[in-house]
Amino acid sequence: MDHIHKFNSELTELPFTNCCVCEVNFSESGVKYVVEKSFKRVSENVQYSIYEYAICWNCAQTFQEKISPESNQTIQNYFLNELSNRSPRFFDENQDPIEVCLSECMVKGTNTSELTEYTICGVFRGGQFSLEAMPYVLSSEVLEEIAEQLSASTKDEMDDFRETYLGGPPELEELFKGRPVVFL
Ligand SMILES: [Zn+2]
Repeated sequence: MDHIHKFNSELTELPFTNCCVCEVNFSESGVKYVVEKSFKRVSENVQYSIYEYAICWNCAQTFQEKISPESNQTIQNYFLNELSNRSPRFFDENQDPIEVCLSECMVKGTNTSELTEYTICGVFRGGQFSLEAMPYVLSSEVLEEIAEQLSASTKDEMDDFRETYLGGPPELEELFKGRPVVFL
């Protein structure tokens, strides 16, 4: 089962083609890039896309450098601590690792189908999943726990990024104010 379509744009129903910041074309340049999509579920089968974007690796790094070293460390420590508390994953041979990764919150283990707000993130090159990193799901619970530990200036940088590049529906933007962008 191919899961790559889950990372298509909800607006165009096609794969992302360009970086939202520098507009480099992904297939022409062959650069590595990240796609993040956030959803709000209103019923078992209905969910809305809150925002989505694709950013090239260079622009993601530039953004990361704008964030304070303390905040970058905080985010890294959060994942190190949380993931070291989870038992290691073993995939049996009939399981598609990508499907498993997309089926639950990477940190909390909650089934994606039970999450009312969540983000999916994947790393790509040439329209395919990059072999360097598995895609993952983060629940809003995780995003809030990270946000609680970030400085006000970091949250401002993240809100600026979202306002500049994402232009989500205003009524939903509030939901994500102060939340981390997850490609870091
Ligand atoms: Zn870029």
